[in-house]
Amino acid sequence: MDRRTFVLGGLGAVVMPRRAAAYPFSLGVASGEPAPDNVVLWTRLAPSPLDADGHGGMPSGDVPVQWEVSENESFGTTVSAGTVTARYADAHAVHAVAGGLRADAEYHYRFRAQGHISPVGRTRTAPAAGDAGRELTFLFASCANFEAGYFTAYRRMAEERADLVLHLGDYIYEGGPKPGHVRQHLGPEILTLADYRRRYGQYKTDPDLQAAHAAAPWLVVPDDHDVEDDFAGTERLDNIPALSASQWAARRSAAYQAYREHLPLRPGSRLYRRIRWGRLATFHMLDTRQFRDRQACGGLWKACADANRPGRSITGSAQEAWLLDGLAQKQGAWDFLAQQVFFARQVTARGMANMDAWDGYRASRDRIQRGWVERGVRNPVVLTGDIHTAWANNLKADYADPGSATVGTELVCTSITSRGDGAASTTVPNAASNPHLRFYSDRRGYTRATVGAARVRVDFRGVDAVSRRGAAVRTIRSFTLRDGRPGI
Ligand code: FE
Ligand code: CA
Repeated sequence: MDRRTFVLGGLGAVVMPRRAAAYPFSLGVASGEPAPDNVVLWTRLAPSPLDADGHGGMPSGDVPVQWEVSENESFGTTVSAGTVTARYADAHAVHAVAGGLRADAEYHYRFRAQGHISPVGRTRTAPAAGDAGRELTFLFASCANFEAGYFTAYRRMAEERADLVLHLGDYIYEGGPKPGHVRQHLGPEILTLADYRRRYGQYKTDPDLQAAHAAAPWLVVPDDHDVEDDFAGTERLDNIPALSASQWAARRSAAYQAYREHLPLRPGSRLYRRIRWGRLATFHMLDTRQFRDRQACGGLWKACADANRPGRSITGSAQEAWLLDGLAQKQGAWDFLAQQVFFARQVTARGMANMDAWDGYRASRDRIQRGWVERGVRNPVVLTGDIHTAWANNLKADYADPGSATVGTELVCTSITSRGDGAASTTVPNAASNPHLRFYSDRRGYTRATVGAARVRVDFRGVDAVSRRGAAVRTIRSFTLRDGRPGI
């Protein structure tokens, strides 16, 4: 390519500086939020992504970035193109809404800036409203601690060439470097906007993560580690490191700003939102972190009567009403509630439960389960991350009565790396006191769902190890969910 001029999709010649800047696409490309006629395209200009100021080696000015979308990888014909401004104030991250696309179609996209061309990404649009569309294959994953292992599971996800990828939180971890891990975080625990931006820079230099983004559009929701471990709404569970109220507020807003900058979210979108997949599926993306009450009894695993208080909420009342309203609409055959923390009851023999999960907000869970039963929702399926192991659970009308109706299904993906290599065991923990918990795996990986109108095939995928590069992935267990028959 001529370094001074190029022609892009009818936009005409763009004159570039005579001396090309350093390669700015070191963090790859991504897409997300597929709609029937558009998709969000993402990149960030960062020739030196590990710089401590969080600006990735970019100067203080704004930079034009061209994007183009084609039906094929060779970009013979451009079907949509435009220019966005990469602003210094956004760490030169860009989110372009590529419109004018056909429904239920595959596309390729790329960017140009400063005389350089980006890697090519593959993406797709959703089927039109009312259209059954084709079978949908999506993957879901969570919890990718950079230090805990290599991102082989992300590489295997890229190789699946799925229609869609859901990421359910802990895309980054906020801690400082810990000895004994396979690789180390740069810098101490992240607190400032510059720190969070550099942490995303470090994660996104990983080629396996870049491959997973470039292979399919993503739908993402953050969880605690994207900000700070176990925070709840506007409160911290601990005060380590000690921060004033205003320092904590600034840290929280820096974390969310950096998350929005680095993931392919629709500009200005709320984090809880709905994505329709024609008549086949609706994804209700939930935010169970920002609007929750603080953990009962100080958090962690407790036997805690306070967790039963009727007024407690993990979603906040506005999001709960929005969710119940969306469930009543029944536009897709399958309603997927994509969210962060363990939904089914899980109590130990001594009555302890995880106060950070829905067990710490039992009234919230009861209102939502009863809500979908009352509205006649045919196929509610909760998709969950957070706990670094894979599970398949039946959701019960009354968890104290194993004979009560099964009213839905929960599928919990394992982690990408967090918790390390794991073990081959599939013995369900606490099974005696929770007979509705039907499957468990302690391998790292992800879950694949192949969705048709009559059934969903679920494959729990595990990699043999994350402490070495290049491990194989295998299916640990498969299940079928049937239309109109809740549960595993
Ligand atoms: Fe995690
Ligand atoms: Ca988490």
